Amino acid sequence: MALIVQKFGGTSVGSIERIEQVADKVKKFRDAGDDLVVVLSAMSGETNRLIDLAKQVSEKPDPRELDVIVSTGEQVTIALLAMALNKRGVPAVSYTGNQVRILTDSSHNKARILQIDDHRIRADIQAGRVVVVAGFQGVDEHGNITTLGRGGSDTTGVALAAALKADECQIYTDVDGVYTTDPRVVAQARRLEKITFEEMLEMASLGSKVLQIRSVEFAGKYNVPLRVLHSFKEGPGTLITIDEEESMEQPIISGIAFNRDEAKLTIRGVPDTPGVAFKILGPISASNIEVDMIVQNVSHDNTTDFTFTVHRNEYEKALSVLENTAREIGAREATGDTKIAKVSIVGVGMRSHAGVASRMFEALAKESINIQMISTSEIKVSVVIEEKYLELAVRALHTAFELDAPARQSE
Ligand code: ADP
Ligand code: ASP
Ligand code: MG
Repeated sequence: MALIVQKFGGTSVGSIERIEQVADKVKKFRDAGDDLVVVLSAMSGETNRLIDLAKQVSEKPDPRELDVIVSTGEQVTIALLAMALNKRGVPAVSYTGNQVRILTDSSHNKARILQIDDHRIRADIQAGRVVVVAGFQGVDEHGNITTLGRGGSDTTGVALAAALKADECQIYTDVDGVYTTDPRVVAQARRLEKITFEEMLEMASLGSKVLQIRSVEFAGKYNVPLRVLHSFKEGPGTLITIDEEESMEQPIISGIAFNRDEAKLTIRGVPDTPGVAFKILGPISASNIEVDMIVQNVSHDNTTDFTFTVHRNEYEKALSVLENTAREIGAREATGDTKIAKVSIVGVGMRSHAGVASRMFEALAKESINIQMISTSEIKVSVVIEEKYLELAVRALHTAFELDAPARQSE
């Protein structure tokens, strides 16, 4: 008998029919003798609808009140699933984050889980009940409702699995596993049997939203066996593992991630003196804006051009800070561009293979795609390109690194 934490995402609980289907699935596991804790998201579209309501009242909703409203989506689905299970003769009880006591810090809208009280859940399991927990939410030490950031139900699932030392955490969603790249963008994308925590973490942080970054961090830190599966189709899904098997088949690149969430800012003609980077980025970080990629070029007239990327939501704010800096330090101009995209190749295989980056650049050059910025780490290479070439770039790289699924045999 195993203890399994199962998390179902928004589309998997997007209607009453789907919730009934989830109940059938949970019952099957229960009938087979497993103990179950089920974590749910809100119905698909619901969290956006709630945010939109808040924005109709206030352009910048108070973060505390926003958490009070957006946390309601999950409260609806957990009650419905508990009812559907009880209807099937499977004793079940639903809990909000507060009722479990998923203690978080007080950073509203992006809170971090600090501790989970497992007493209540354990007692229910002991009594033979399925426990249905609202994902995405917690409570801070002052009793305020908090939420964990978009996609945060994944993190609730993994954190509960860690706290309960569950045998497995199963993330059920609308795709049958983690693919070499978003299967909605590249039809030839292939499901991966396995991916390492390290690679999954890079994929998630570089834009693959199939798992929230923090859920992968948690799973790696507490060594939670984690699997991504399709909610309603049978199959092995994708296992996220620690082991990096060294085999001849080990691909150099495991996956391609991309995002359109960033914007680029450039300050030109900056007098090139020590401390330039600090003068430019100091005020940006003082305004609480996170910087991702950075490039600096020195030109022959003793000035430098400096380019960096920020989240697109912070573009306007960053540009006005940069314009101020340009005036103060006597730079020629501050400009920006929001129509960019970041494409990244990810794989632990890069450690043992040279020339991966140049193969990437060659594939992009063949499609005449201009690279505006580059950044590398031990297991990834990211480039910034014009947004309109994003899909072309991802497809070209997918083929260049031999990730395409074999063509289907005609039947
Ligand atoms: P849920 O509501 O179940 O949490 P999400 O929409 O958050 O589902 O995540 C699943 C989606 O992630 C898929 O529908 C897919 O389009 C997208 N996705 C992006 N990158 C990948 C990838 N590499 N593999 C699988 N899915 C991916
Ligand atoms: N409902 C939340 C969201 O849409 C959390 C989740 O689905 O994981 O972001
Ligand atoms: Mg999700």
